[in-house]
Amino acid sequence: MARREMRWFGWGDPAHVSHGLPDGALELLRARVGLSDMPRPPFPLSAIRLPAPVEFDIPGVQLRTDDEARILHAGGKSYPDLVRMRSGALEAAPDAVAVPRTEHEVRAALDAGVAVVPFGGGTSVVGGVDAVRGRHPAVVSLDLGMLDRLLSVDERSRIAVFEPGIQLPAAEAALNAQGFTLGHFPQSYEYATVGGCVATRSAGQASTGYGRIDELVVGLEVIPEYVEEMRQRFAGRQNVRIECLDITSTSFDLAALSFDSAVSFNVFEHIPDDVGAMRHVYHALCPGGRLALLVPAHQALYGHFDELIGHQRRYGKRELSEKLRSAGFHVDRVSYSNPLGALGWLVNLRLLRQRQLKAVRAYDSVVPLLAGAERLVRPPFGLSVVAIAHRPAA
Ligand SMILES: Cc1cc2nc3c(=O)[nH]c(=O)nc-3n(C[C@H](O)[C@H](O)[C@H](O)COP(=O)(O)OP(=O)(O)OC[C@H]3O[C@@H](n4cnc5c(N)ncnc54)[C@H](O)[C@@H]3O)c2cc1C
Repeated sequence: MARREMRWFGWGDPAHVSHGLPDGALELLRARVGLSDMPRPPFPLSAIRLPAPVEFDIPGVQLRTDDEARILHAGGKSYPDLVRMRSGALEAAPDAVAVPRTEHEVRAALDAGVAVVPFGGGTSVVGGVDAVRGRHPAVVSLDLGMLDRLLSVDERSRIAVFEPGIQLPAAEAALNAQGFTLGHFPQSYEYATVGGCVATRSAGQASTGYGRIDELVVGLEVIPEYVEEMRQRFAGRQNVRIECLDITSTSFDLAALSFDSAVSFNVFEHIPDDVGAMRHVYHALCPGGRLALLVPAHQALYGHFDELIGHQRRYGKRELSEKLRSAGFHVDRVSYSNPLGALGWLVNLRLLRQRQLKAVRAYDSVVPLLAGAERLVRPPFGLSVVAIAHRPAA
């Protein structure tokens, strides 16, 4: 679906011809707020004065520096925004508008040393897309409109994966074509994007029954910024190396990694071919190297919440041991952990079919006690299975 363009001085399609307010509405405004008798038509775009742009380049990323692009990205759609736009003189506007087509281009923009303001549909009413330069030499508006695809829909878990810049009508149409709905309808529906809604935790006025966007989001995949942050945090530590790898693929040389340990918390249950991924971890370890992992326990606890958060399965002790062995591992220890959590999961998520984990904070406060007790007695069931395995020495 083609991206919907918005008029720069207001809401709606630029091609739409406005016939003004009906006489009754004008009368009411005149009586209540004192309407001027001399209506001011929208300022011509070409006459708007903009601050001179700071010039810069982001290699490999398309940058627009024309006035129209800068004006369209200079603010959102609040009343003060529109007054500012129509006044004819903008005090602040982005120096350029970047239009990335890939995740790598987004990353390049983030690394460019300029202030970056993400721009989805530009419907913010709280100054969210204002061109704020801060301590940076320049400011770029990062228009995510080219990242506008529905990437996948999993019919079983009903999880859809979107790129952030897809506008809500396009997202809805793509899901409808497969028999689903996003069910999120803020009043800014025509222009707002999935990414913008998630960033602002928007609540759809017409979404009763589905709820706020944050109740619909299972996960966000951010640009590998975390990896970069880790690299910076651990810079200079000889014994730490930060890599970003996909354990479901063999696109990297596993043997060259030769890790002495691997730790995995709640990962394998999301992977369709979990044994294949375990095998990759096995090959990434040096002989004698160890894997410590934790996965959700008991298939009997599997329910709609597991589906919602992308679990393919839950594990029993025996099943997990067999899978680790068929990936080549020697299993040293496997046990259940967190029986109280299992009861909470059974009652709240499985029986009461709640859609959120509740009382997590209260539960966290008793974790140290429970962990101590588990050291003395291995529980017969639990929310998770914990295993320690190793790659036999050659
Ligand atoms: C007429 C009108 C009606 C509205 N109705 C509602 C309503 O019913 N409910 C409601 O909740 N809100 C409403 N809003 C406010 C606004 O539409 C929402 O906040 C919406 O979620 C913004 O989406 P957007 O794609 O336009 O984001 P933008 O306005 O482009 O951006 C909003 C903020 O999110 C950031 N951002 C955008 N995309 C990303 C991204 N991919 N990653 C990281 N950050 C990002 C931006 O930098 C900005 O700070 C309304 C606004 C208007 C003008």
